[in-house]
Amino acid sequence: MKKLSILGATGSIGQNALSIVEKFPDRFSVAALTGKTNLELLARQIDRFSPDIAAVFDENGAAELKTLLPSGCRTEVIHGEEAYIAAATHPAVDMVVSAMVGGAGLLPTVAAINAKKDIALANKETLVMAGDLVMEKARENNVRILPVDSEHSAIFQCIAGNRRADLEKIFLTASGGPFLDRGKADFASITVEDALAHPTWQMGSKITIDSATMMNKGLEVIEAKHLFGVSHESIEVLIHPQSIIHSMVAFLDGTVIAQMGIPDMKGAIAHALAYPERLPIGVPLPDFPAIGNLSFRAPDLIKFQCLALAFNACESGGTLPAVLNAANEIAVSAFLARRIGFDQIPGVIKETMDLHVPVMSPALNDILAADRWARDATQNRIYKSKGKATA
Ligand code: NAD
Ligand code: MG
Repeated sequence: MKKLSILGATGSIGQNALSIVEKFPDRFSVAALTGKTNLELLARQIDRFSPDIAAVFDENGAAELKTLLPSGCRTEVIHGEEAYIAAATHPAVDMVVSAMVGGAGLLPTVAAINAKKDIALANKETLVMAGDLVMEKARENNVRILPVDSEHSAIFQCIAGNRRADLEKIFLTASGGPFLDRGKADFASITVEDALAHPTWQMGSKITIDSATMMNKGLEVIEAKHLFGVSHESIEVLIHPQSIIHSMVAFLDGTVIAQMGIPDMKGAIAHALAYPERLPIGVPLPDFPAIGNLSFRAPDLIKFQCLALAFNACESGGTLPAVLNAANEIAVSAFLARRIGFDQIPGVIKETMDLHVPVMSPALNDILAADRWARDATQNRIYKSKGKATA
């Protein structure tokens, strides 16, 4: 029986992970759950999975959650940053599913690694912000980081059984999002609703916007660099609108191995949860005749400037990726709050990046300081300017 802690249980990945737990009750149990919003769902999850602890963001959330739980519920409700750390380091837990969204995932994930828990990693921001440090801690603690991000799960599966020394290149595929074929001149008129309508994947709102700007792919390049210990030059982003090939790996002899499946995150989540076994999760095979063609093209870095910004941050390293990530989080929430236009997102991020003096080989404190600085700097420019930001 593998005991899980699910950080971000109420999110898209968290709910999918729990649906797998529910299907295989003899394999998995839940010792800890965390959430921030949607406390009614968290209460139902607690009722269904009876974790020892449930952690929420603040005192009000904890009080509200308690009123939603059935009488006699034995789950201890805790709150705050330390509560998330407690959920990530619960002594009974074998594996932590890191599925919070954003930089909030970093400290609980690092705490879980320090507590020698294996990690099923969905929270790509952890590696974007602190990849060198996190991978080093994982090695020191003999902790396995199993990718949940579908592309990284694909790469992991394609590499399996091959010698690392024979790896030549990674092709990181991207659907291209909803605006792949929209002219850049029309980007100013893109609404929140347009950007939230992803053509192939069902996901939380932040990553859905990141997919529309293609920042998501940029974050994934940084994630792949750290996870697989490769240079950024050996990662090529490839637009593949059908989202059937989740990524590919090329070897020295010219062989390319691809991993395929329908776009459903349950495949990658189940792979991480049960590794090295595979679970019969009921995801149907791709209907190849109906799909017809698998197509590929190079990304347009002029149109999708966020991808170019992420390449820059990846190449520079130090604290710049953490600044890119923080500025992006603020810009995305400002777009979702209708404070800035879709076309302004890259400019807002770039301005913050340009103002930053990176610290190279940063310690965790340097990364957290850069993250805080970038959030404040971006927020101040957006919200202190009258009306819409001009970036
Ligand atoms: P989501 O928005 O659906 O869920 C996020 C979860 O984190 C929720 O439980 C929410 O309550 C919690 N949360 C939000 N802010 C928090 C905070 N400040 N502190 C603590 N908890 C907080 O997000 P998602 O789509 O499930 O994505 C989660 C992570 O997985 C992200 O890092 C995303 O990039 C990654 N990911 C998601 C998908 C996907 O298909 N959804 C695919 C690949 C990677
Ligand atoms: Mg992905």
